[in-house]
Amino acid sequence: MNRINRLSPRLANQIAAGEVVERPASVLKELLENSLDAGAGRVDIDVEQGGKKLLRVRDDGRGIHKDDLALALSRHATSKISRPEDLAAIASLGFRGEALASIGSVSRLELSSRASEADSETGWKVRAEGQQMETSLEPCQHGVGATVEVRDLFFNTPARKKFLKTERTEFGRIDEVLKRLALSRFGVQFSLRHNQRIVHELRPARNELEQRRRVGLVCGPAFLENSVEVEQQAAGLRLWGWISLPAFSRSQADLQYFYVNGRIVRDKIVSHAIRQAYQDVLYHGRHPAYVLFLELDPGAVDVNVHPTKHEVRFRDGRLAHDFLFRSLHRELADVKPEAQVPDSGHAEPLQAGPETTATQTSLPLRDSAPVRDSAGEYSFPLRSAPAASPVGTPEQYAKLFSGGEEAPPLGYALAQLHGVYILAQNREGLIIVDMHAAHERITYERMKQALEEERIKRQTLLVPLSLAVSEAEADCAESHRESLLALGLELERVAAESVVVRQVPALLKDADIEQLVRDVLSDLLEFGASDRLENRQNELLSTMACHGSVRANRRLGIDEMNALLRDMEATERSGQCNHGRPTWVWQSMDELDKLFLRGR
Ligand code: ADP
Ligand code: MG
Repeated sequence: MNRINRLSPRLANQIAAGEVVERPASVLKELLENSLDAGAGRVDIDVEQGGKKLLRVRDDGRGIHKDDLALALSRHATSKISRPEDLAAIASLGFRGEALASIGSVSRLELSSRASEADSETGWKVRAEGQQMETSLEPCQHGVGATVEVRDLFFNTPARKKFLKTERTEFGRIDEVLKRLALSRFGVQFSLRHNQRIVHELRPARNELEQRRRVGLVCGPAFLENSVEVEQQAAGLRLWGWISLPAFSRSQADLQYFYVNGRIVRDKIVSHAIRQAYQDVLYHGRHPAYVLFLELDPGAVDVNVHPTKHEVRFRDGRLAHDFLFRSLHRELADVKPEAQVPDSGHAEPLQAGPETTATQTSLPLRDSAPVRDSAGEYSFPLRSAPAASPVGTPEQYAKLFSGGEEAPPLGYALAQLHGVYILAQNREGLIIVDMHAAHERITYERMKQALEEERIKRQTLLVPLSLAVSEAEADCAESHRESLLALGLELERVAAESVVVRQVPALLKDADIEQLVRDVLSDLLEFGASDRLENRQNELLSTMACHGSVRANRRLGIDEMNALLRDMEATERSGQCNHGRPTWVWQSMDELDKLFLRGR
């Protein structure tokens, strides 16, 4: 049996380093957090060879007292907390007192500083190098603030050095760390240089405009153009920031920044709430983009749950979840046409970025199949009455251009293009509507609302429709009979492999009922018995709405088209269909003029 030894402090540090110091980027994160905790207004970062050779962070913060310099490099030494009570409401980014000790145990570290309150003319410097630690103080030139220089990371732990990736990859992670922190402190100036080349020069953002500029620099201009601002407050919680319009969804979850009291976090409750808020408007497998700040009482959230402090624990997780979900759901619901047509034709609200274009082309209209209805007999289930007079009358055009209040955001229909698109003109230019996608959204929202109010109207089929299905599907129809009835569908199993459709939602009476029922049954099978149907009602409604919507190649009269435009204006989330595709786009007169090189 081996006897038990106490670990030497150095060895303990190296073990601790395994938790926080994984790669150059994690070193940078710790150093930047220290600078921000020290109240720095400006931070300059120098990186060489992806941080493998050198990482230097210089700040103009409070600095470290000469007598504390050596202490700063030892483990469990911190100026940020001192009493057990402090742990309950942490306001700084660091508090574990481990980072510098850990980093110093696996690199050649130099800490120089001059404390603001110290009267000394010069700064002071201490060093740590792997196992040895030089405790002697040396004077050095330094302004008020601190500089930490980390050279030759993992020089004494070759096994860990081997795990580092290429210079490029490591620098990519460093860049990401900087972006995260730069978004968390708009007021701080950051610069980043890699191999003597300037990569970022972010000036302090002191007002809304400058904040937007920083978000654009960090997340790309396309994100800004395709996002809406969020500002919600309730029950002592505040949420603000920017969220992408559903049409700007991404194939990766790479543009997601979420801060709790200025600390970036990845949290299950948070991501679940956001995903749920986008559920209705985002195509399956796509990811929203966002920069969001949640502010709440520090005592209501525990940050001491993980060494890297990326996780938090809300004291009231349900409250946080509900607040996030409701706030974002509300903001997304408000994305109606008028929110996106600017007053003057300068912005491009739904001019999709490359990401969106890719999605759109890869998603064919799900149901361009022909419809079996008696020719020409199409009743368009719209809420609002069709426009009284056809567009094109002199009075109407006069209204449109008089600048009067009456001109609706989506304008008036002009024509239908290839049975797929509605062309309309509003005061600013040309509107193009994907009539199927738009109608699908309207039908879906209407059905959801009816379901909520428990008043989905059913219509009895004159001739019940009997369908041959698989036994599993028939089982499904039988066991979910009541729930389907609540959704407006009455199905009766009449044999082992046969069901009869007796009633359908009145809104969908013109749909291809057979296809609709088959799709609903296949959805049900896919959900599996484990999932309660109530949780999936919206998905079923979405499937159904898709069938109840106007198909391609349906000829619409001008009145019907105008009615659709008015309904879009009145419908929540009408900017996207249920699959997250945009339902309409527009071109301003300015943009059209540009196309024709007019006025040059
Ligand atoms: P922690 O941040 O958890 O306190 P660290 O090991 O990161 O632990 O730092 C130890 C201490 O060194 C900090 O508590 C702080 O007092 C001091 N310190 C580190 N970096 C800086 C800096 N850039 N400016 C001023 N003080 C610093
Ligand atoms: Mg720290």
